[in-house]
Amino acid sequence: MHITVVGAGLSGPLLAQGLRRAGIDVLVHERDEPDRPDQGYRIAIAPEGDLALRSCLPPSRYQRVLDTVGKRGSGWRVLDPQLRIVQETLVPTPPDEERTGRHLTVDRQTLRRILLDGLDVRYRAPFERYELLPGDRVRAHFGDGTSVETDLLVGADGTHSRVRPQLLPDAEIVELGQTEIFGKTRLTGEARRLAPPVALDGFCVITGPDGRFMPLAAHEFRNGGDDYLMWVVAGPSELFPAELSTMDKSDRREHAARLVADWHPSLAALVRLGDPATVGSTTIRTAKPVPHWETVPVTLLGDAAHTMVPQGTSAAVALRDAGLLCRRITERGDRPLLDSVAAYETEMLEYGFAEVARSLASASS
Ligand SMILES: Cc1cc2nc3c(=O)[nH]c(=O)nc-3n(C[C@H](O)[C@H](O)[C@H](O)COP(=O)(O)OP(=O)(O)OC[C@H]3O[C@@H](n4cnc5c(N)ncnc54)[C@H](O)[C@@H]3O)c2cc1C
Repeated sequence: MHITVVGAGLSGPLLAQGLRRAGIDVLVHERDEPDRPDQGYRIAIAPEGDLALRSCLPPSRYQRVLDTVGKRGSGWRVLDPQLRIVQETLVPTPPDEERTGRHLTVDRQTLRRILLDGLDVRYRAPFERYELLPGDRVRAHFGDGTSVETDLLVGADGTHSRVRPQLLPDAEIVELGQTEIFGKTRLTGEARRLAPPVALDGFCVITGPDGRFMPLAAHEFRNGGDDYLMWVVAGPSELFPAELSTMDKSDRREHAARLVADWHPSLAALVRLGDPATVGSTTIRTAKPVPHWETVPVTLLGDAAHTMVPQGTSAAVALRDAGLLCRRITERGDRPLLDSVAAYETEMLEYGFAEVARSLASASS
């Protein structure tokens, strides 16, 4: 059996690791070059993500993930623009998290490197289209001029998936009218002095009365590494230039700094200390629920299936998809592959879109 994965983000490589561990031939295709610095930021992984990592990865590789996680803070806080705490939620470590799954704080780039290590990956190979072939096979075509015939094509190609519109032409992704610029600032002595202390002890978000908000959190590697502060400056899209996504990264950083220039002066200073190579921008979107389609040898994982408003769970849900699809394929016994894919899709659509609804409700409250 041969499986083709589109997208070397988080869920695609985890699926490939699990399949490879079970002796299944799998090739990953990625649009970008390896290790782009703006693909790396601090990311919170909820317990279902930890359980999926544990189930797909060989124990020594899973241990590498645990060895590179960030220090866990005491909780999360909401601050006003003058950095006064207006809400605080302390999150103690659950006593049985070994069994129920851990809350992990990871550096996305480090996690990606661990997940991609040892896999067959073709970089600079953007997926373009597929054609269904007789005998439940599929051929995928890529922008580098190659094509591959395979038993299952898995679209793990994120929010802007090219696989989804061909599989589900009616699926809708709704723009919520919010934009964000994000980046990383190295935790030098100056950055530590400027950062609100609570940003060094968990996650915090500074919120203004006019829809602007600024998530801020340190990533301090538990066992040493290049510690940094992740910052995001977000708000109504009309506050951002229309050409934001094509703007020079230093200009985007400067725009982010100016957007918070009327808040506590440390905030714009922290943004201006950010490394331009790590700066990126995106808009906030949510997927509309889709009914289950007739299963073919093409399926979706993670944000490609159920893009959601960022509320700290989308990565874990994407990893859960990878764990579930891997289990359905590798534990199916004599059942046809497409039956296992259909079972995966039924379950994934149910919990995936429940999380989309929960994230949307929690962001609007
Ligand atoms: C600043 C920031 C902070 C975040 N923090 C958190 C957090 O704390 N917790 C959390 O749960 N989530 C967080 N997220 C969201 C999280 O990163 C995503 O939900 C998660 O990465 C989704 O994984 P995925 O595998 O579905 O897709 P992705 O990780 O987006 O990977 C998709 C991959 O597909 C590739 N690709 C795209 N198109 C093609 C194509 N045509 N051909 C080939 N390859 C293609 C892309 O280059 C990419 O490598 C954050 C996002 C940002 C931007």
